[in-house]
Amino acid sequence: AAAGSLPRLKLLLAGPRGFCAGVDRAIRVVEEALKRYGAPVYVRHEIVHNRTVVEELEAKGAVFVEELDEVPADGHVVFSAHGVPKSVPAEAERRNLLYLDATCPLVSKVHREAERHFAGGGPEARHILMIGHAGHPEVVGTMGQLPPGAVTLINDSEEARRVQPADPARLAFITQTTLSVDDTAEIVDILRERFPLIEGPKREDICYATTNRQEAVKAIAPGCDLVIVIGSPNSSNSQRLREVAERSGVPRAVLVPRLRDLDWSVLEGVSTVGITAGASAPEALVQEMVAALGQRYTLDIEERTVKLEDVIFKLPAPLG
Ligand code: SF4
Repeated sequence: AAAGSLPRLKLLLAGPRGFCAGVDRAIRVVEEALKRYGAPVYVRHEIVHNRTVVEELEAKGAVFVEELDEVPADGHVVFSAHGVPKSVPAEAERRNLLYLDATCPLVSKVHREAERHFAGGGPEARHILMIGHAGHPEVVGTMGQLPPGAVTLINDSEEARRVQPADPARLAFITQTTLSVDDTAEIVDILRERFPLIEGPKREDICYATTNRQEAVKAIAPGCDLVIVIGSPNSSNSQRLREVAERSGVPRAVLVPRLRDLDWSVLEGVSTVGITAGASAPEALVQEMVAALGQRYTLDIEERTVKLEDVIFKLPAPLG
């Protein structure tokens, strides 16, 4: 069709969206390691939960593995942004592997909180309730900072209502960094009401990037017929963005890893589309989506930025 006859489509782009400082740093760690040490550089787990990022780093010589036993004796290995249990660097040291830790500093901060509450397991120790999603690598990493039994995982409000700690007077809570702000507030309220002496961060450990991206999608969702969240299905913060959009009154919100995964039928009868991207999704994937929409529609694009971010993290010591 000639440009003039294309149907109109309004696009609301949520800001902030996409890469956070922790993801940006983790990718730079792998790139810098490749420059310094040459390929291959091994990476334990997807460096960040995004296929495109993983494939681009693979093309530069990164080799992704799930466990350290897949890394040869003299290999360089990077730990992902999600963090690792203490057993992982311990094993790397035992095997004399050269490792770099790309754990996001905001995840490391939660690790240190957990250790502070545990207080070496002495008389001052508090039992820790971790609000998070079972099986997520960040949860595995954070719980793995302490001996088994020191942390109990709380997946949802139901579990917060049921948990029966041995000593309710010696309790603390910590959270995963990429949770739903609203769900977590509800869970924290339940815990504080049941256990008034529980210690914890002022609100929770949800990071600035998760909070801002949820706020930004909430700001656009009510005016949209459809919200497209660019992000991978295994990305916790992307999944939460899709849920938050749906709960903020948009009739439909879809999680799309990248353009080639878009089912175009979702656009039928739609006149305003909101777009955001998870903290691990490159902006190029947003632009690829916008360009493809521009081929089929006459676009009216509006950026709606609820907050400006200027967080940048330094590279870990050996690279910094
Ligand atoms: Fe760090 Fe938050 Fe990004 Fe996770 S989402 S890497 S905690 S800044």
